[in-house]
Amino acid sequence: MAYKYDNQNIFAKILRGEIPNDTVFENEHALAFRDINPQRPHHVLIIPKGKYVSFDHFSKEASNEEIIGYIQSIGKVCDLLDISIDRGDGFRMIANSGQHGIQDVPHLHVHILGGSSCGKMIQL
Ligand code: 5GP
Repeated sequence: MAYKYDNQNIFAKILRGEIPNDTVFENEHALAFRDINPQRPHHVLIIPKGKYVSFDHFSKEASNEEIIGYIQSIGKVCDLLDISIDRGDGFRMIANSGQHGIQDVPHLHVHILGGSSCGKMIQL
């Protein structure tokens, strides 16, 4: 079954400039901005500029250029926030996907969480 992208999702509106955001980093293929409801001192969402619902969708259908630009943006954001593990204290990266992943916004995003410990990996 094909992936269905909802053009009215909140991150699509952010990409179109219809809703403001606190941008941390941007390149040709990615936009990174602060989460409106931060769960750690640093909580940044990184989204591709293309219309992808989830990471599995992106990994299967995005072009190599899109994938490279998106993945490179993750390292850039970590450096900008000083949470890269070569110079900072690290971070957690989460990509909630679909119903069982409890994904609220149906446009691919990774959460980058840092600035304090994120605790154990998952709550049961
Ligand atoms: P999900 O549950 O889909 O993995 O995460 C969605 C995230 O988007 C949540 O952490 C939520 O706080 C964030 N969010 C929802 N609406 C907005 C918004 O309008 N602006 C920003 N910056 N973040 C949002």
